[in-house]
Amino acid sequence: MQEKGRLVVISGFSGAGKGTLMQALLEQHKGEYALSVSATTRQPRPGEKEGISYFFVSDEKFDEMIKEDAFVEYARYVNHSYGTPRAYVEENLSLGKNVILEIEIQGALKVREKYPDAILVFVTTEDANTLHDRLAGRGTEAEDVIAARLARAVEEAEGIEEYDYLVVNDTIQRACDLLHTLITNVREGHQEENHAYRVSAHMDLIQKIRKELKEYSKGE
Ligand code: 5GP
Repeated sequence: MQEKGRLVVISGFSGAGKGTLMQALLEQHKGEYALSVSATTRQPRPGEKEGISYFFVSDEKFDEMIKEDAFVEYARYVNHSYGTPRAYVEENLSLGKNVILEIEIQGALKVREKYPDAILVFVTTEDANTLHDRLAGRGTEAEDVIAARLARAVEEAEGIEEYDYLVVNDTIQRACDLLHTLITNVREGHQEENHAYRVSAHMDLIQKIRKELKEYSKGE
């Protein structure tokens, strides 16, 4: 029988470059990973495609999916709902693929409850400045949305200890290689080799980013 894949939760501040990192991981390890596509009630950004970036749904449709128990988890994030469709996740896990969920912290914690062997990874930049610049540089978000997302980042930063590993996205290639190594080690039962990347080994960096994010959200 095919060995079941692992569920991998990737969270990180808005602007941390998770999307690009996921693309690299999928391209470089074809067949090993499946990326779950979430449903959301927010509007598509320019360039986002239905069924690839998200399934863009109405509030009514989202509520219907909740009633049908069609989500592994769902959560609210800055005025919109986001949820992970169950069918794709279960199908791909049973095919032996590692299924990646790129979701925020409330969802991550629900996944941890339902799938205790899920791997939870938090992705960050080295400092809060880089986050702000990336968010602003995207050019798709108004200043008030950027501010709301940075404020949300302050809250999310409080929960980093709930995650297993911290990946600093300094260069995509390094972060991608590290992520693949961490997941492979867990799958092969060599967790001890991941020790240096456990969240608990990086509390200094986490405290620094928390402080910087708080300063940002005060409007500096
Ligand atoms: P964005 O609007 O920037 O695409 O996503 C906003 C936040 O929602 C990000 O932190 C993203 O990871 C998270 N997110 C996307 N899909 C889901 C989902 O299905 N469930 C949860 N809980 N969060 C999600």
